[in-house]
Amino acid sequence: MYSFIEKRACELAPVLTRHRRNLHQIPETGWNEKETCSYIAAELRQLGYEVLLGGPVTGHETGIIASLSCGNGPVSVLRFDIDALPTEEDSTHAHLPAREHFCSRNPGAMHACGHDGHIAIGLGCARIFTELSSRLSGTIRLIFQPAEEGCKGAGAIVERGWLDDASLFLAGHIVGREYTGGGHADVIPGVNASLATTKFDAIFSGHSCHGAAPENGASVISAMASAVLALNGIPRHSEGATFLNIGRIQGGQGRNIVADRGLIELEVRGTTTALNQYMEDQAFRIIQESARMYGCESEIQVIGRAPSLDSTPALCGRILSLCRDHLPSIQAFGTSAAFRASEDASLMLERTKSHGGQGAFLLFPTDTTAPLHNSSYDFDESILPKAATVFTAAVYQFCGRKPQALSRHRSESV
Ligand SMILES: [Zn+2]
Ligand SMILES: [Zn+2]
Repeated sequence: MYSFIEKRACELAPVLTRHRRNLHQIPETGWNEKETCSYIAAELRQLGYEVLLGGPVTGHETGIIASLSCGNGPVSVLRFDIDALPTEEDSTHAHLPAREHFCSRNPGAMHACGHDGHIAIGLGCARIFTELSSRLSGTIRLIFQPAEEGCKGAGAIVERGWLDDASLFLAGHIVGREYTGGGHADVIPGVNASLATTKFDAIFSGHSCHGAAPENGASVISAMASAVLALNGIPRHSEGATFLNIGRIQGGQGRNIVADRGLIELEVRGTTTALNQYMEDQAFRIIQESARMYGCESEIQVIGRAPSLDSTPALCGRILSLCRDHLPSIQAFGTSAAFRASEDASLMLERTKSHGGQGAFLLFPTDTTAPLHNSSYDFDESILPKAATVFTAAVYQFCGRKPQALSRHRSESV
């Protein structure tokens, strides 16, 4: 059966490339993925999936859950993220999507994190699962998740209980060859660390008055300036690396008015969930005290949060053996790695593990033209069928029917 999976994924390579290139042209940022969702839903319905869209999935207008019922058995969940970034795509001849006419048609938005590829992989898996359905048991649940950037979408899906009955959870990311030290590999079968993160807004309010009588007001500009300096002075932590970035500051009305409203958009990260919590606690305190120091008030709104990824070691080991023993076209690299970014799939992985399930976040190294989130980012599409092979084979390994049970399906052609 594994050779069937490899063969079908290989045959589907041109279809996956076509999906990827179609989707690359319609990038949409978090919670705006309407055209993307229409595209995915149409494909999945054609394949015979039961498709849920929007509200019941995320409480927003976007997000898809597609289910394939294969009788009694465990629930296997695969997650593919679908959102793009607010980036203007490189339109020069050196950039392959421009050269081959599949650049973004949405000004100011671009698939610069490879999520167009992730969707194509998901559609490839969906197709192979329908062809394998008589050989599978349980339920296959495919999640096409919006708003991964900023770590917003996964939490909305987890809150609605979609991971509560998962026995297996798999997700992954296309990455560059830096994860394999430049060497060749198609999959790293399990991330055991990523940067935990909290994204939040600090909203400052003060009192406005004439600039010639500032004693009558309370300036948010002073409070925010003080906060920015103090935030950058948070002490390092002896147990690992921590990060803080202030991405945007906005406030004030004009030069002769004491400013009464202001906003700081920022994020903290840590190599462990505990280190991120340290940064979050320090940052929240500094924001509150800086506001108070200048007679202002502050409110913190958490926009997104993700703990560190921690794949189930035994599952990673099984996927590694699966590649080495049964998938000759797939070269696997080691058993685990640290993902040098943040990923809200960690919330789904945690929920799955919290009730006894197992999960893994895989990396799919391939040639890339620029770092993730760069306007010239592009990746080698030959990774698409390989990633679909690994995901599909891992699910089959988990919930494929035993050979004895196959006798009644023998007459069916696959
Ligand atoms: Zn990204
Ligand atoms: Zn990404």
